Amino acid sequence: MSTVNMVEAPAGVEGSGFFATSFDKVIGMARANSLWPLPFATSCCGIEFMATMASHYDFARFGSERPSFSPRQADLLMVMGTIAKKMGPIVKQVYQQMAEPRWVMAVGACACSGGIFDTYSVLQGIDRIVPVDVYVPGCPPRPEQIIEGLMKVQELARNEALRRRNSDEYKNLLESYNIR
Ligand code: SF4
Repeated sequence: MSTVNMVEAPAGVEGSGFFATSFDKVIGMARANSLWPLPFATSCCGIEFMATMASHYDFARFGSERPSFSPRQADLLMVMGTIAKKMGPIVKQVYQQMAEPRWVMAVGACACSGGIFDTYSVLQGIDRIVPVDVYVPGCPPRPEQIIEGLMKVQELARNEALRRRNSDEYKNLLESYNIR
């Protein structure tokens, strides 16, 4: 007997031989269950990510088994580890090369806030250079927390209005980061 659980269909109208729902719900469902992460792992939190990808925790269950090392084929930037200020422009460049819609997860205290490294050389949080959607606390966070972070991103992707990325609010957000 198969133990594979299917994703639930979005809310809609069902009858004999038909099922109708709205376009944005179908797109949201597809996006949420096929997030392709780009792991930007620089230190210990990256090891935690490896554990999350391995068979015990199995990221693949969420449709995210394909890590992308090309920003052009990724829609979830996962920054895991200490980011030195010199590395900041590279993180930003990677983000800019990703196509919309794209999401960003800051994994661990270092990516969220610089962590214990309150020093001249360490970026005090990646949200100083790119907009962050989900912050995962911990030093390092356990795989369960990383998975919870992914599920939060799924929630955002599932419920995001199709035209949100064209809104003035979103454009202003990117402009505040000097991203065009
Ligand atoms: S948050 Fe802790 S475990 Fe993660 S990269 Fe920083 S020092 Fe390492």
